Amino acid sequence: MERLFSPWRLRYVASGRKKNSGCVFCRALKLGSRRQSLILHVGAHNFVILNRYPYNNGHMMIVPKEHVSSPRGASPASLLEMMELAVRCESALRAVYRPSGINLGMNLGRSAGAGIAGHYHLHILPRWDGDTNFMTAILDTRVIPEALPVTYRRLRRLVGPGPGRGRRRRSGAGSGRRGRGR
Ligand SMILES: [Zn+2]
Repeated sequence: MERLFSPWRLRYVASGRKKNSGCVFCRALKLGSRRQSLILHVGAHNFVILNRYPYNNGHMMIVPKEHVSSPRGASPASLLEMMELAVRCESALRAVYRPSGINLGMNLGRSAGAGIAGHYHLHILPRWDGDTNFMTAILDTRVIPEALPVTYRRLRRLVGPGPGRGRRRRSGAGSGRRGRGR
């Protein structure tokens, strides 16, 4: 399966093979700019990030802050928060894209299809009847009609903390997430 903008992919795949310092998830979390890293929300234990190589528009991933390769290495609090975030992401996808279905899943290990095997993550993506279109079937290529910055803008407010939920700021950065550039 090739994406139309797949020149990025080799570097991405290669970077996943290194240890923590080269991990794209760990690096994204360290980045100051949320927009640049495509991080939609940072919770106490996990963060939500757009997939840079989406299968469909709105393809997000929920990723633990800790560099662990399997849910077996995560704390109960982290696992619970991951599923809470999955529910929030589902609501955001339903509100923004009105999909007819949603895939929610993990690939643990390279043989299972994990691109970043060292740092486990939960994929959540919207599906529509017939979204495996002729380009996919005939040319083994996917067309992603919406640009990532647009997807980011549409989902960011909805995936962020709702009323009554504790917002976790990263130290000193002021997070820069409130209402900027809507
Ligand atoms: Zn990592």
